[in-house]
Amino acid sequence: MSSLLLFYSVILGAIIGSFLNVVIFRFHTGRSIGGRSSCATCAHRLKWFDLIPIVSFVILGGKCRSCHSRISWQYPLIELLTAAVFFCITANFLENPNTIAEWTVLGFSLVVWPLLIVILGYDLRHKIIPDALVYTVALGTLLFRLIMIAFAGEGGSWIDLLAGPIFFIPFFLLWFLSNGRWMGLGDGKLSLGIGWLLGMYGGISALVFGFWAGAIVGLFLVAITSVQSRLKRGSKAVTMKSELPFAPFLIAGMCAVQFFNFSLFAGL
Ligand SMILES: [Zn+2]
Repeated sequence: MSSLLLFYSVILGAIIGSFLNVVIFRFHTGRSIGGRSSCATCAHRLKWFDLIPIVSFVILGGKCRSCHSRISWQYPLIELLTAAVFFCITANFLENPNTIAEWTVLGFSLVVWPLLIVILGYDLRHKIIPDALVYTVALGTLLFRLIMIAFAGEGGSWIDLLAGPIFFIPFFLLWFLSNGRWMGLGDGKLSLGIGWLLGMYGGISALVFGFWAGAIVGLFLVAITSVQSRLKRGSKAVTMKSELPFAPFLIAGMCAVQFFNFSLFAGL
C-alpha cells in the first residue's frame, strides 16, 4: 500500500513539475500560463507524446522533433526535482500518518513546496524572486504555523511564530544598508516562510545550511571560471561581485531540514 502511494506521488510530482516549468518560463513575461506548448525556437506545436514528463526529453534526446534545437535542461530537472520532493513529502507523512500535525504538514507541503520549486527555478533563470510567489509562501506558512500551535499540540510554540520575523531582520538590514547592492530583499521575504514552516531551530539549521552551500558553490564557481577565462580569452569570469541566485541554496537547506532531519541542534 505505502509503496503504491509513493509510486503515485512520484508520478503526480513529475506531472506537476512539468506545469511548474511552464510557470517558471512564462510567469511575468506577458505570456499566458495557459495555451498550448510549442518549441521556443521554431514554434512547432508539441503533441501530447512530446509532453510526457522526463520520458519525452529522454526519447527526443533533448532536441526539438521538428527543428532539432536543444531543449532546456530545466524541463527534466524541474520534473525530477518535483517528483523527488513529492516522494519525500509522502514518505515523511507515511512515517506517522495519524496525527493532526502530520496531516497539517502534508496539506501545506503539497501547496508550499511547488511554490518553492517555482521560486528556485525562477531565481536561477531570471535572477529575481517574484513578490507574488514569495508572499504567498509567507502567508501559507504563517497559517500553517498558527494551525500547528493551535491544534497540533507538539507543533511548536510562540517562539516558532517569531522565527519568521527574526530571520527577516538581518536580511532587511543587509538590503537596507547596501541599498540592495549586496542582496535583494527577496531572500529576506523567503526567510519569513523558512521561519514559519520550520520553526526556530529548524529554520536556523536551514539558513546555515543555505549559507554554507552557497559559499562553497560560489567559491567553486569563482575558481573554475577564473581558470577558464585565463585559458580562453573573452569568456566572462564569475567574481565575488557576480550575483549568485541565493534562493536555491536556502530552499536546499529547507529540504535538508524538512525531509532529511538535518539539524544543528540534534543534541538538544
Ligand atoms: Zn523546434
